[in-house]
Amino acid sequence: MHRETRAAAHWQEMSACRREDPELFFPIGDTGPSLAQIEEAKTVCRECAVVEPCLQWALASRDTHGIWGATTEAERRRLRLAAIRTAARA
Ligand code: SF4
Repeated sequence: MHRETRAAAHWQEMSACRREDPELFFPIGDTGPSLAQIEEAKTVCRECAVVEPCLQWALASRDTHGIWGATTEAERRRLRLAAIRTAARA
């Protein structure tokens, strides 16, 4: 849980990012030197016991920035779009 906006989430107390520098999860971009930071943050997420609820929360909260549930903002946009397309085909 690297932001206060997660305060209401019941899974927050199990988040691996509570032990990390919050800045790690907010790279300034998604290219160049930010790539190493993104990968480092995702590594923390992949070891996190609540990665799935975190991702679902972030997908539902469209105004999230940074790394959540081992995804970047751009990756979450693609996941939302894929879900919309899948629902449209059903
Ligand atoms: S998945 Fe990542 S961002 Fe989400 S709670 Fe776990 S460590 Fe934090």
